[in-house]
Amino acid sequence: MTGKKYDVIIIGGGVVGSAVARELSRYRLCICVLEKELDVCNGVSGRNTGLLHSGILSGEHSLRTECCIEGNAEFDRVARELDVPFKRCGKLIVGFGEREKRSLEELFSHGKKCGIPGIRMIGHDEIRAIEPNADGEWAIHVPTAGILCPYTYTIALAENAARNGVHYYFDQEVTAIDRREESYCVHTGNTEWHSRWVINCAGVSACRISPMLGFGEYIPKRVKGEYEILDKKVGRFLSVPIYPAPGEDGDCDLHITPTVDGNVLVGPTLEEVGEEEDYRATREKIDLLARQGARLFPNHVKREYFIRNYVGIFPYVADPLTGERVDFQIQSDKRIPHAVNVVGISTPGLTSALPIARRVAEKVKEQEALTVNERFCPVRKGIVRFADQDDEGKRRLIRQDPDYGEICCRCECVTMAEIRQAVHNILGVSTVSGIKYRTRATMGRCQGGYCETRITSMIEEELKKEVTEVLWNQKNSQMFTGRVK
Ligand SMILES: Cc1cc2nc3c(=O)[nH]c(=O)nc-3n(C[C@H](O)[C@H](O)[C@H](O)COP(=O)(O)OP(=O)(O)OC[C@H]3O[C@@H](n4cnc5c(N)ncnc54)[C@H](O)[C@@H]3O)c2cc1C
Repeated sequence: MTGKKYDVIIIGGGVVGSAVARELSRYRLCICVLEKELDVCNGVSGRNTGLLHSGILSGEHSLRTECCIEGNAEFDRVARELDVPFKRCGKLIVGFGEREKRSLEELFSHGKKCGIPGIRMIGHDEIRAIEPNADGEWAIHVPTAGILCPYTYTIALAENAARNGVHYYFDQEVTAIDRREESYCVHTGNTEWHSRWVINCAGVSACRISPMLGFGEYIPKRVKGEYEILDKKVGRFLSVPIYPAPGEDGDCDLHITPTVDGNVLVGPTLEEVGEEEDYRATREKIDLLARQGARLFPNHVKREYFIRNYVGIFPYVADPLTGERVDFQIQSDKRIPHAVNVVGISTPGLTSALPIARRVAEKVKEQEALTVNERFCPVRKGIVRFADQDDEGKRRLIRQDPDYGEICCRCECVTMAEIRQAVHNILGVSTVSGIKYRTRATMGRCQGGYCETRITSMIEEELKKEVTEVLWNQKNSQMFTGRVK
C-alpha cells in the first residue's frame, strides 16, 4: 500500500516530534507524523516528572542547558498560547550536613556560571517560609522552575500542529527507510510513505532510526525511573518541588514534586537498564520510594496515600570511546540530504522541546528556502474543565450543554460533556487512555473503577464501534472481549 506523498515525515509523535510538527507548520509544507503507538503521549513524554527545569542541573556550555534555559524563559507565553496548566512555583534543592552543604555550594556556583536567573542559597528558616513541609539545613532556591502537565502539553502541541495542517498517523511503526532519487521511502508495516524530508524524533528508539537514515550507529542505553503518585489529599501540603542535594555522581536522585493537578509525585528511582525498554514497576522500588521519599517530605509519603505507580525511560547516547553520556544531538549532514537526526534527548527534553524544534527548523532552512504559512495560528484551546469552574461558571456550562451536568468520573469530577469532546479529538485518538489523558477521567483515587465502563460506552456510541473494538492504550488491549449482559 502507498501512503500519501509528503514534504516532511516526522518519525515519532512525543513532545519533541509534536513540537517539531508545530514549528514546521509555520511554513507552507505538507507534513505528517508517523507514530507507532495509538496516541502521542504513550512514550516518555507522558511518563516523566512534569517539571519545567531551570537548567541548573545540566552541564555548562551544553546544548541541553542552552535549550533548557530558552524553553524555561518562554514557557509562560507558550502555556497561554496552548492552554496548558502551568505554575511557575520555583524549586528547592535541599541538603543536610557538611558534605551536602559543599555539594549545594558547588551546584550554586555552577548555576551562576550557567546564568540561571534568581538562584539563592538559603537556610532552614527561609526553606520553611517557602514551604513549611520541606526540611533541610540549606537549600538552593530556584525561582524559575515550574510544573506543567506533560501529557497535556504534548497533546496541545500535537493538536495545534494538526489545526495548522499536520496529519497524524498512529499504529505506524517505521521499520525501514530507503533513499530513492530525490526522496525517501519510509516503510511501516505494509505501507510505503514518500517524502522529501525525514526527521527522526523517535525518542528511546531514535538510535534504531539513525542508521536507517545513514547517520551514526548508537548503542541505545537507557535509564529507567519508577514513580509513585500520591492522592490529592496530600497535594495541599506541598507547594514546590523538593530535590535532594546532588550525590557523589552529581545527579539529584529521587525528588518530591507537586503536580499542576494537585497530586504529588515521588520519584524517580534511576536505574541503568542497558538496551531494555521495560515499563514494569517493581515492588522493590515501591518500598524504596516510600523510604527515601519520607526523608524529603516527612509525614506525607505513606503507603495509604499511594494511588498508582508508573515508569519512565530515557535514552542517552554514550561516546563510543569514553562511554560518557553525550549532549543532545540535532544533526544534519550534506551527504544525507534532507534529513535531521534528533537523538539522545534525555531530561530536560520536555522543557527543551520547542527550542529543539526551532533548531530542527533551522537545519531544514539551511538546505531549503521555506515560505511562511500566513494562516499559521499558535493558539489552541483545551477542553473547558467543569471541576475548575466556580458555581456560576458551572451553571453557565450546564446551560450551554446539559451533559456538563452529568458526572462521569466522580473522583476527578469529569463530566460527560468533557468525555464527548475528548472522544472527538482532532488527532482521532480513540483509546480509553487517550480520553484519560485529555480529561483526567480515571486518574483519581478509584483509578477508573467507576468511570472506565462509562467511557467505553461513550466511545462505542459516538464513534460507532463494537465494544470489542474499544482499546485501553495499545493494540490488543481490548477493554471487553464480548458483552457481559
Ligand atoms: C523518569 C524521567 C523523568 C523526566 N522528567 C523530566 C522533567 O521533569 N522535565 C523535563 O523537561 N524532562 C523530563 N524528562 C525528559 C523528557 O520526558 C524527555 O526528554 C522527552 O519526553 C522526550 O520526548 P521524545 O518526544 O523525544 O520521546 P517520546 O515521548 O518517547 O516520543 C518518541 C515517540 O516515538 C515513537 N516511536 C519510537 N519508535 C518509532 C518508530 N520506529 N516508528 C514510529 N514511531 C516511533 C514512540 O512511540 C514515541 O511516541 C524525564 C524523563 C524521564 C525518563
